[in-house]
Amino acid sequence: VVVLAGCSKKITQPLTVFSNENPLERKVDSVLKLMTLEEKVGQLNQYNGFWEITGPTPKEGQAAKKYADLKKGLVGSMLNVKGVKDVRALQKIAVEETRLGIPLIFGFDVIHGYKTISPIPLAESASWDMEAIKNSAAIAAEEAAAVGLNWTFAPMVDVARDARWGRVMEGAGEDPYLGSKIAVARIQGFQGDNLGATNTILACAKHFAGYAFAEAGRDYNTVDVSETVLQNTIFPPFKAAVDAGVRTFMNSFNELNGIPATGNAYLQRKILKEDWKFEGFVVSDWGSINEMINHGYAKDSKQAAEIAINAGSDMDMESSAYVDHLVALVNEGKVKEAIVDDAVKRILKVKFELGLFDDPYKYCDENRETTTVGKAEFQAGVLDMAKKSIVLLKNEKELLPLKKSGQKIVVIGALANDKTSPLGSWRIAADDETAVSVLEGMQKYPENQIVYKKGADVAVGRTQFIWETKINMTDKSEFADAIAAAKGADVVVMVLGEHGLQSGEGRSRADIGLPGVQQELLEEVYKVNPNIVLVLNNGRPLAIPWAAENIPAIVEAWQLGTQSGNAIAQVLYGDYNPSGKLPMTFPRNVGQLPLYYNHKNTGRPAMNEPESVFWSHYIDEKTTPLYPFGYGLSYSKFEYSDLKLSGASFAQAGSIKVSVKIKNTGKIAGKEVVQLYIRDLIGSVTRPVRELKGFEMIELNPNETKIVSFVIDENTIQYYTANSKWEAEVGDFNVFIGGSSAKTLEANFQYTN
Ligand code: BGC
Repeated sequence: VVVLAGCSKKITQPLTVFSNENPLERKVDSVLKLMTLEEKVGQLNQYNGFWEITGPTPKEGQAAKKYADLKKGLVGSMLNVKGVKDVRALQKIAVEETRLGIPLIFGFDVIHGYKTISPIPLAESASWDMEAIKNSAAIAAEEAAAVGLNWTFAPMVDVARDARWGRVMEGAGEDPYLGSKIAVARIQGFQGDNLGATNTILACAKHFAGYAFAEAGRDYNTVDVSETVLQNTIFPPFKAAVDAGVRTFMNSFNELNGIPATGNAYLQRKILKEDWKFEGFVVSDWGSINEMINHGYAKDSKQAAEIAINAGSDMDMESSAYVDHLVALVNEGKVKEAIVDDAVKRILKVKFELGLFDDPYKYCDENRETTTVGKAEFQAGVLDMAKKSIVLLKNEKELLPLKKSGQKIVVIGALANDKTSPLGSWRIAADDETAVSVLEGMQKYPENQIVYKKGADVAVGRTQFIWETKINMTDKSEFADAIAAAKGADVVVMVLGEHGLQSGEGRSRADIGLPGVQQELLEEVYKVNPNIVLVLNNGRPLAIPWAAENIPAIVEAWQLGTQSGNAIAQVLYGDYNPSGKLPMTFPRNVGQLPLYYNHKNTGRPAMNEPESVFWSHYIDEKTTPLYPFGYGLSYSKFEYSDLKLSGASFAQAGSIKVSVKIKNTGKIAGKEVVQLYIRDLIGSVTRPVRELKGFEMIELNPNETKIVSFVIDENTIQYYTANSKWEAEVGDFNVFIGGSSAKTLEANFQYTN
């Protein structure tokens, strides 16, 4: 007889000792042994909670079925339940009214904060500051855990190269190396060091896999990519997530090379569970099991369930396909019970790890909820993150930092006065109007005269769940007023860009310029006063070539969350020296997409070398980006020199050191992200012209110099080769170090046998 420490009170029968020596697995096996097939299938079923279940006991329709299933022990998890009261009520049903009393696990999209909102993930990624990113995730975790949640559907680790795709806001940008580091930082932040500590939640690496490679950047669209791209570009952050101990994965809506990711055994069984030895569980994306019917891959929900479970999707989010059909599928011999058992064990294991069997209500503490949500320290944390996320794109005519007194500053743009848009997409639990607006932030510097004019609207339909945000506002009736005010100003601060709900899920754009009449407004104001500081608010790279050419100062401020306006004002006034670097290329023109720094060469002369009409180019647009990956200015100036290698070559198990000198030649102290790139000149598979392989953030006082060095070894140069494995190939390499992917010093080395 095994003593099932603290197991849910319903499990009182003597439990058989299994041969398995691992105590956790022994507990899991012991519970599994007690379960009927129906109860096992129930553990694989996840229902959406809010609206349907937390209201008055539902009597009919879907909600009544869900409620009845919950009471029968046919639900293993719920998502979107908000607050301790509701979590406790539902947990009580699971624990007290079902036969075995197995606790539920509560998931939620805590993407960049629960109520206290951090910058959107793409913005945070621009900080290149892993400690800050980890801290931001830890804040989100502590707040979410205090409202009864145990699991977030984050981080999204999809490497994204197409800014038309609305969900680029949710990821870490275009680079697999940076993306892997950020994935790890976020997972560590959410999960903490101690699984089941009540200030942490489980993380979920999503969407496995290829979701960001939707054709034409249209959300949910077909994905067709080679093994090389999968292995070298798409997989690395997912692999890093597994290695960092992420407990859950989410698959994705898209098909991958003809097979929907949800029904894709290669992805889920072969790569994830076999090759990477992932021991947690995979949740489907919302309804993605049934979506296989529309994909033309399953004829009905029953067949979809069969395909999904056999392919390794362990938990069914909102399709009801498992709970409706899996028992029959097992009885008919189409699904082996061992497959169901494996999925159940993965889920039970996680519930044990969280300590939910010991105390199913451990996350349900009303007192903690009241004292934790919106804590002052959280505000300080998200403000710090917001400042670090800002990228200075251009600063001419010494417009920035703004002078703190004696200035007439005219602030223009609906977004300047918006307290909701800075919260961005995916902030389900945060209330509207809870962000500090740019105007409010700027008003904290009272020695200047601040005049505000809207000029033009950005969007209507500002509810979170209105997918079709109308973006092309045409009203110019307030132009004249804004232009008149701008005339006499020392500086005009124009806050333009996308409303927070113009990016995110289901919000792909075919045109990624400034929505509506904002571009026109910018040009009109410029005619009367060219001293413009353009503050961009956006959830994706924008194509703004006219602004880049004409506007003297441009600040990329994304959607920065609750403390947005304070962070922006502190940067504008120089109380914080910007240090962010772009995690994603800004194109000149949407027609260049996908555009990314780590592209391949063609057989034609290199990009940027218009020697003949035969080079790979457009006849109506440059090939180069507007702003490259890794780019960002500071109020300090950094000079790179003396790139040195410790040798000309290294062999297997060896390494070389590469170092560079950086001097702050500016007038104030500042931070710089020093970036290391390599190029493998000849490969068994063609290699990118540049690949990020290291970075370090340094802080320098005026005139101070630092030497930064990186070690290059086999790990640095390996990739997924023509041999279908990760390995280092002998040959010649370039190494580049600089403050962006475009502007670097260069040297060469060899890797030999
Ligand atoms: C999204 C997921 C999300 C899920 C639950 C889906 O539409 O693709 O990323 O976690 O909904 O809200």
